[in-house]
Amino acid sequence: MRRLYFLVTVFLVLMISMTAFASGKVYILCYHTFLGKSKICTDFSIPEFRAQMITLQQEGFRFVQWKEVLQNRVQGSKNILLMIDDGNISTDAAYHQVLKPLGIKPMLALYPGILNTRKFALTWSQIKVMQQDGCEVASHGYFHEYFTQKFHDEHPKDFDNEFYLSKSILESRLGLKINEIVYPFGISSDIATQTLKSAGYRYGFSLRQSPLSVPIPPAEALDLPRYMVTRGQGATAIFGMLSRVAKGSQ
Ligand SMILES: [Zn+2]
Repeated sequence: MRRLYFLVTVFLVLMISMTAFASGKVYILCYHTFLGKSKICTDFSIPEFRAQMITLQQEGFRFVQWKEVLQNRVQGSKNILLMIDDGNISTDAAYHQVLKPLGIKPMLALYPGILNTRKFALTWSQIKVMQQDGCEVASHGYFHEYFTQKFHDEHPKDFDNEFYLSKSILESRLGLKINEIVYPFGISSDIATQTLKSAGYRYGFSLRQSPLSVPIPPAEALDLPRYMVTRGQGATAIFGMLSRVAKGSQ
């Protein structure tokens, strides 16, 4: 019996240390709209977007979800977390025509100030369909304002709404806990850090270009790196880098 206890203990210690030392990398890609407007640098057509996603899958990338990152269930370097910012109406077509058929679940960064009320924004029912399919949601402020000291000083109430009101609306509308906030324009500040902590957020996404290490280094929890995909040279650079990652040469 003692021997059994010993073996079980050894097994548990091994499992715990394997989990503790397992490490991976995730490339977080940030998209915006899918309107087919070639003059807007953050926009891609549905066929362009589909081709990009298929290329990444063919190169062997796995599309992971944020919950897998939090549970340290990510191995190796060939991992992508797809984020779509701003809740543009075209997100719905991109999801149903491209992502869902490919089995990809994006994380949506939403600001409730426009949802359901502006023609160019997603409706709550569209968001709920994606949520029921397993897509995750982060706050992106309330009205997509600047998270700066200047905006705080000039509009203190609006500044607070970016954190508190956004969180409470998303949580009550979608029935989930929102622990993540995506900085509009990638901008944060000391006052934003202080406010988002008070509001109960635990993770903040910036636009610092780097792969995310998993487990997440605690010092980076409020500066999670992302690559904003823009057309032309921006996309060429990002997809070139990912291609080298896929070949194991980076
Ligand atoms: Zn945005």
